[in-house]
Amino acid sequence: MSTATQTRRFEAEVEQVLKLVTHSLYSHKEIFLRELVSNASDACDKLRFEALARPELTAGDSDLRVEVEFDEAARTLTIRDNGIGMSEDEVVANIGTIASSGTRRFLESLSGDARKDTQLIGQFGVGFYSAFVVADEVTLVTRRADAPAEAAVRWQSKGTGEYELSTVTEARRGTSVTLHLKPEEGEFLQPWRVRSLIGKYSDHVAFPIRMLKDVEAEEGDAAPAPTIEWETVNHASALWMRPKSELADADYQGFYKHIAHAYDDALAWTHNRVEGSQSYTSLIFLPTQAPFDLAYSGRDERKGLKLYIRRVFIMDASEQLLPSYLRFVRGVVDSDDLPLNVSREILQENRMVAQIRSGLVKRTLDLLDKLAADEAEKYAGFWTQFGAVLKEGVAEDHGNRERIAKLLRFASTRSEGEAASVSLDQYIERMAEGQEAIYFITADSYKAAANSPQLEQLKARGIEVLLMCERIDEWMMGYLQEYAGKKLRNVAKGELDLGKPGEGETEQRKQDEKDAEPLLKAIKAHLGDRVREVKLSRRLTDSPACLVVDEYDMAMHMKRMLRAAGQAVPDSAPVLEVNARHPLVQRAGAEGDTAADVAQLLLEQAQILEGAQLDDPAEYVRRVNRLLVG
Ligand code: ADP
Ligand code: MG
Repeated sequence: MSTATQTRRFEAEVEQVLKLVTHSLYSHKEIFLRELVSNASDACDKLRFEALARPELTAGDSDLRVEVEFDEAARTLTIRDNGIGMSEDEVVANIGTIASSGTRRFLESLSGDARKDTQLIGQFGVGFYSAFVVADEVTLVTRRADAPAEAAVRWQSKGTGEYELSTVTEARRGTSVTLHLKPEEGEFLQPWRVRSLIGKYSDHVAFPIRMLKDVEAEEGDAAPAPTIEWETVNHASALWMRPKSELADADYQGFYKHIAHAYDDALAWTHNRVEGSQSYTSLIFLPTQAPFDLAYSGRDERKGLKLYIRRVFIMDASEQLLPSYLRFVRGVVDSDDLPLNVSREILQENRMVAQIRSGLVKRTLDLLDKLAADEAEKYAGFWTQFGAVLKEGVAEDHGNRERIAKLLRFASTRSEGEAASVSLDQYIERMAEGQEAIYFITADSYKAAANSPQLEQLKARGIEVLLMCERIDEWMMGYLQEYAGKKLRNVAKGELDLGKPGEGETEQRKQDEKDAEPLLKAIKAHLGDRVREVKLSRRLTDSPACLVVDEYDMAMHMKRMLRAAGQAVPDSAPVLEVNARHPLVQRAGAEGDTAADVAQLLLEQAQILEGAQLDDPAEYVRRVNRLLVG
């Protein structure tokens, strides 16, 4: 019995997602089953949770489960659950529109390059719409657990621009999703095929997934009564509660794929039971690949860590249970002691939760330590994917700063290429005789850092310099002034102190400075306000000049970045350091127009090397040409 059917259009963005999903997910088409089973399992979780306060919701049918059925003649596959169900408004909101801002960000991050977008979509929970990869029509019938039989909703769509909606009568609570399979997708009508997919992707769904048993008619039976026998085809237990000794790597990997909606394996995991004033079990995973929206650290909807209380799923609680710099962690926490009626607000300030949180941070850092020590190659992979996020912890987690710093990896003047492979411990181990500080430079690209004139003197003395070129580095290093008792020094800032001066060095320096005074004065006169000061450099050997900022000043590339982002940044003229032995510097230190041109050129070259844009490129070109024509 159904009332008048209304036809509605999908939101424009849904259409876009549908198109993308059906075209690009083809190589992973069996994923639809995992997604629909996972929605069914979520619906059972939600009902179990609501029934804590309103037991009447599950009265008469308290065995929460998922059922998978075939109809060969009609070429349909149905996934049914007796979970929470949906009202008409919920159907429209959840299925007809893109409710989650995660999906919106996903759409914004699409590049238009089909290959890249396919990868993106692979990392993205495409959820319900994946049904249209294999079906040319989908029918969903749903009745909310608290609605009467006459208030069920039927939704149907061919996955193009529109869907149909009507009110129907349905005695059963929950949702059934029926896929009308495309002609070429007959494989999903074969019970063994579907059964093996459930084993692969959904074995650890905590509710039973049932299929009809093949009951063969016995020969000789005159008129075999049609017997319906259901059979549970998954493991249907909370994997994290099983003893580690019973679990194989493949079990963990399967579970990871289920909870993280991943296609690929986890990189590593740690499974622990904590007994004490706070008893809980945790199973946390490090993914192999960063998700598309990892950089985004918005508070409103971080997912990935599920909170259970005594086996009842409560909520996604990544924000409450993990600091932002560990937002890549996936897994479950099952507490014995938290009250079942816990709310997000309570989680925010609960003392027990704070204990669990610091326990999880410790477990994660332990896991990373172990990986770094025992499986360097895997750790390198982790670092490429998640290093920039972990770096946030140096600034944000004061208590664990030293532990996190130990996990950092950088490119250096002694390592091959751009790969960040040197740890601070390694650096310290091979420090030069008499060297007291850890030297680093920040820049906006690897090349700018590696070829920076500021490194010349250090290179000449065989002193290693860490090359930092990620956006976050300058900010992070503001919080990392010391490691293992050693100061960290930016070689492009303040006075460059290369350890104790050798014999006679101090006197020599004084003399040099005195000798250079007229030269420095003349150059400063040519440059006027464009520089704050012209100084004799101790950083340079080959190059004529470089720019430096004060020790506690922000690096110039950082200022540019902030300005580009629309922030007000105090403007202060840089200090120009010159190499008095260089012939160009000597020419600049003379009087007259040519000397003035050379002085300006020294400054502009130093700006270019530092990565800055010239204020007046045309004037720069004229100047160079004047000098070339000479
Ligand atoms: P996600 O599961 O990541 O939220 P989906 O596209 O898989 O995204 O599902 C969208 C929404 O539709 C779900 O969040 C849920 O609210 C609703 N939904 C889907 N399937 C079911 C179901 N079987 N029972 C109840 N609600 C469902
Ligand atoms: Mg889903």
